Amino acid sequence: MEIILGKTAGFCYGVKNAVEKAETYAKQQKVKSIFCLGELVHNRQVIEKLEQEGIKFINILSDIEQDKRKNEEKEDKIVIIRAHGEPKTTYTFLEERNIEVLDLTCPNVLAIHRIVEEYSKQGWYIFLIGDKKHPEVIGTAGFSNGQCSIIEVEEDIDKALEEVKNSNLHKLLVVAQTTYSLEKFNKIVEKIRVADTKGIVENLEIKNTICNATKLRQEETEELAKRVDSMIIIGGKNSSNTKKLYEISAKECEKVVLVENVKELEEAKEKIGKEGKVGVMAGASTPKESIEEVIQFLRDLK
Ligand code: SF4
Repeated sequence: MEIILGKTAGFCYGVKNAVEKAETYAKQQKVKSIFCLGELVHNRQVIEKLEQEGIKFINILSDIEQDKRKNEEKEDKIVIIRAHGEPKTTYTFLEERNIEVLDLTCPNVLAIHRIVEEYSKQGWYIFLIGDKKHPEVIGTAGFSNGQCSIIEVEEDIDKALEEVKNSNLHKLLVVAQTTYSLEKFNKIVEKIRVADTKGIVENLEIKNTICNATKLRQEETEELAKRVDSMIIIGGKNSSNTKKLYEISAKECEKVVLVENVKELEEAKEKIGKEGKVGVMAGASTPKESIEEVIQFLRDLK
């Protein structure tokens, strides 16, 4: 068996920065209660490690106020905002309650927030291409003034154009979730360009805001999947960018497995077999320990 590990597999710089800063902060901070809104990364091992350092993961802001820690007398609270970012209302909520913020939103995501906020103020309608339920998309939409439609698949375009028409705005800006598939983005943009928008859109501006780390990883995955007999994608099942790596690989390669850790690979090893070339890629929130475990497992299979 020949094992080929993708160069771009694992933490992107946004996630790496967020995990390192959160960990360092938690180690040094002994006075305040530290909360993180949502999982910092979609990876159980990383989350458990951070929980051991004292970070409490919560899903909604009201959990902060309801938190009644036993034997806990820490009055001060700090909330970590993860790399995906948060809507503007979250910042307002925290500011109104004088709760400190450790903002670890990735600079690429912050840049999209600024674009959406600025264009919204200037009377542009926003099309945000991305997964409707993804926290990054919800956060970014939260920087518009509400004149924003989320397009997840090509079928959403007609309804979104109807919404532009009803808004009476005639300038349309198109942006994307940072981890959206480049191929799908291009297809949706092409459909918007050729759609009959006469009398609705006078000004159309497209900004490809897919981050470079995502683009390079998707390209490498496609190229790798073409030249191997099987592919292993390592990452969280709820990680959007990991799922896309799986989809890309499945188009090019017959045997593809998506595993969160080495235990799951144990169950899927029959599909991979012991012969031929095996490509290994990992999502942006997969720690290097998980990748190393998988590589070791494959070496032991030989
Ligand atoms: S995928 Fe890109 S935008 Fe998202 S956290 Fe990583 S570097 Fe930042």
